[in-house]
Amino acid sequence: MDTSTLETAVAVRSYGYFIDNQHVHPDHDDVIDVVNPATGRVWARVPNATTADVDRAVASSRAAFDGEWGSWRPADRAKFLIAFGQAIADNADEIAQLQVDENGKLIREMAGQARLMPEYFNYYAGLAQMPLGNTNPTHLKDMLNYTVREPLGVVAAITPWNSPLLLLAWKLGPALAAGNTVIAKPSEITPISTIRIAELARDAGLPAGVFNVITGLGNPAGTALTTHPQVDKVAFTGSTATGQAIASAAGNTLKSVSLELGGKSPNVVFEDADLDSALNGLVAGIFGASGQTCMAGSRILVQKSIYARVVAELAERADRIRVGDPQDETTEMGTIASRPQYEKVLHYIEVARAEGARLVAGGVATTVDGLENGLFVRPTVFADVSNDMAIAREEVFGPIAAIIPFDDEDDAVSIANDTQFGLAAGVWTKDVQRAHRMASKLRAGTVWINNYRKTGYSTPFGGYKQSGVGRENGPDALREYSEEKSIWVDMGQGVKDPFNPRA
Ligand code: NAD
Repeated sequence: MDTSTLETAVAVRSYGYFIDNQHVHPDHDDVIDVVNPATGRVWARVPNATTADVDRAVASSRAAFDGEWGSWRPADRAKFLIAFGQAIADNADEIAQLQVDENGKLIREMAGQARLMPEYFNYYAGLAQMPLGNTNPTHLKDMLNYTVREPLGVVAAITPWNSPLLLLAWKLGPALAAGNTVIAKPSEITPISTIRIAELARDAGLPAGVFNVITGLGNPAGTALTTHPQVDKVAFTGSTATGQAIASAAGNTLKSVSLELGGKSPNVVFEDADLDSALNGLVAGIFGASGQTCMAGSRILVQKSIYARVVAELAERADRIRVGDPQDETTEMGTIASRPQYEKVLHYIEVARAEGARLVAGGVATTVDGLENGLFVRPTVFADVSNDMAIAREEVFGPIAAIIPFDDEDDAVSIANDTQFGLAAGVWTKDVQRAHRMASKLRAGTVWINNYRKTGYSTPFGGYKQSGVGRENGPDALREYSEEKSIWVDMGQGVKDPFNPRA
């Protein structure tokens, strides 16, 4: 073993699952390396869960659902969520750092997310006490009907690597507020931050088994969760292909499923837009987080009258982006999160060239001083893309902008909607009527007008078409994590005719 390998080996931290408020190591040694994509170093290892390991976690979650947790009042759950939020606030720097070490995103973005997370839990604490039932007038005399909402049971939260904890918070907050227990299965690329947050939940007073973490690959760990008869719901964020596999696997036991999937979102610039703001929004949309966001504005639709100018200015802005160490506060774009993802991005650059798109910025891997093993790619802009090219149809999940020209509003709508996805869209115009017309015509779960990439706990988020099923966040989030029960009470007197349902 050479010295560098030895140094790496010494620094590697070994984790287990987090079950029943404890770190649990399985009785096998199949492990997954956690690699820092900026340095290329393995810094942690987690077990690759077997079906038997998943069974153990589910048994714990089921027992917790039937145990003390079930007697907690909504007010108790709200109090916990506030304490949990505070624990996250107190440890925000560490939580941000762990995620940067896992996925190479900018420390400033991860720190911002970590500081925002407490507000998510505070919001769900409020929702925990919101009345969700109704009294319903009926067509029958002397009958009272009312509805109550009850927790579903055990929720499997399966999450991706790009914003590991924020996307978990979108599930964990409403699931716990509604009284469920949760098993998280983070991405194999980013498991450590989720284990850490489970420790914080324990420290904030959550009973054992209410929030368990299992680590491992999509198969077998993810599959074991999505097919498990004792799991009542799968809340998934990830790729459309995996979402399709999960929906069919969950079909066997008819679980409730919510899916937040991929996108190929159009960011549409009209000739009457404030161009400076629009260009900023185009950069934020596709180069923010190295383009590794589900809502990336990866198809940039530009009206022909301003096309040449926008192409030139976007290329120039892309060339100016500082790609570098994600730990550095002045860096604007960090790494690609994993080697397979890096290879996928470079592959799409080749495909775009071969299909005849015109490269106007980037198009190459790059290196950063001191981080020679880092997975860096220059911000890339292709012009003259047509909507049938692979970079316009398939989700790249990387810093590749595809610019497509359009004639007029109808043309813009038809190109924007010509996709299997429907997660989000941006519109840049100063014409208020056009802005609202576009918002109503675009088939997407979120439309941003003169801004891009905004989300928040009080606003529903989710996809049309193959970008998803269900909505996260917003005032209705708890409904996604509860069953509605209808209760009939006969207030009348006397015996009724047993063969007359209207009596
Ligand atoms: P992915 O689909 O490869 O993996 C997501 C999670 O699913 C991981 O935990 C993985 O281990 C697990 N998984 C994989 N196969 C599984 C299976 N057969 N059964 C159960 N679980 C399985 O996605 P990724 O590469 O981690 O993340 C990138 C994708 O996530 C992109 O497509 C992106 O658009 C999407 N995403 C969507 C949103 C949104 O809110 N719509 C947000 C972020 C990311």
